Amino acid sequence: MKIAVIKESAPGETRCAAIPETVKKFIALGASVAVEGGTGEHALIADADFEAAGAAVGSRNEVLKAADAILCVLGPDPASLAGAAKGALLIGALDPLGRRDAIQAYAKAGLEALAMEWMPRISRAQSMDVLSSQSNLAGYKAVIEAADAFGRAFPMMMTAAGTISPAKVFVMGVGVAGLQAIATARRMGAQVSATDVRSATREQILSLGAKPVFVENVAGIEGEGAGGYATEMSPEYQKTQAELVSSHIAKQDIVVTTALIPGKPAPRLISDAQIAAMRAGSIIVDLAAEAGGNVEGCVAGQSVRRHDVTIIGAGNLARSLPADASALFARNVYNFLSAFWDKDAGKPVLPDDDELVKGTRLTHGGKLVHERLG
Ligand code: NAD
Repeated sequence: MKIAVIKESAPGETRCAAIPETVKKFIALGASVAVEGGTGEHALIADADFEAAGAAVGSRNEVLKAADAILCVLGPDPASLAGAAKGALLIGALDPLGRRDAIQAYAKAGLEALAMEWMPRISRAQSMDVLSSQSNLAGYKAVIEAADAFGRAFPMMMTAAGTISPAKVFVMGVGVAGLQAIATARRMGAQVSATDVRSATREQILSLGAKPVFVENVAGIEGEGAGGYATEMSPEYQKTQAELVSSHIAKQDIVVTTALIPGKPAPRLISDAQIAAMRAGSIIVDLAAEAGGNVEGCVAGQSVRRHDVTIIGAGNLARSLPADASALFARNVYNFLSAFWDKDAGKPVLPDDDELVKGTRLTHGGKLVHERLG
């Protein structure tokens, strides 16, 4: 089994899909690993580090030659993958709905494409979940960006020159990113409150030492639901939530929004009128910016000012932590392939009826096979 690790070519992408630790582990399973030169450039991994772990380092053509598996962070241009073995696995965050033509081209080229971001959110797959590993880092970085843009300090400070009050941070959407945002803001000494539509998050907010702010009179989402995801809320819920947010937000310094609804645009949680009610100098970081944004007037990838409030439309923040983001992504990929490793065959064997295989497999035998691509 030859595993090829390719260098990312998308603009702004800084991560890589393998690190020396996972290279060593693949070799220990009996595979050989070839890494394209410069793959670890932004993640502070030199070609020599990959070589020291046992990988061969070479050009794209050299690493792809007769490769049985290709590891990437984002799906590469299909034309750049010539030379891999027939039936080679292509594993990465392939953006199947946004890149249908590319997925079709992978199928035509005989590649077996596996989309890491479609890994089922079940306990067995937690260590393979790239959405979680990257969202966790994004939640952390959102608070750091807010602190950087904020003209005041986060913790309470009692000094000889007087007292500085703690910053008030409000986190909207308490999934993986939101939980890390709460934890980070708490560690930095802020007073933190948080809200979500899923009532199961109330306990999690309390356990991190933050204050839950919940819609009380209209039912939210009980239990963990289908995969623990939110759905679109009723007009009645949305109205009550907007009133609650209006009164709370005017007293906040920093708001971090992370709310997403799978398969739908991000829910609008903050209106322009609500921004106008915030104190001058407040900061909003919208982690849902690329999914349409939780905040009116937010622009993905940019920082804009409205009513003396800075709105940061966060792009993919995990990319700004390339070393950690790559390490976690690479381990997710390793954990996935090694879970299916067949010692006798010397390679991963992916059973058709396995939930993780069904969830991630996009192409098989030259065809698109995923039900969501039907
Ligand atoms: P997500 O990124 O899809 O959404 C972020 C948060 O926004 C969610 O908590 C959601 O409830 C919330 N939200 C949506 N609409 C909202 C609104 N109108 N107002 C306020 N909040 C709103 O979520 P995620 O981080 O992917 O996590 C979703 C769930 O999946 C959680 O229950 C999490 O524990 C679970 N999960 C399970 C696994 C696993 O078992 N492998 C891994 C990761 C996450």
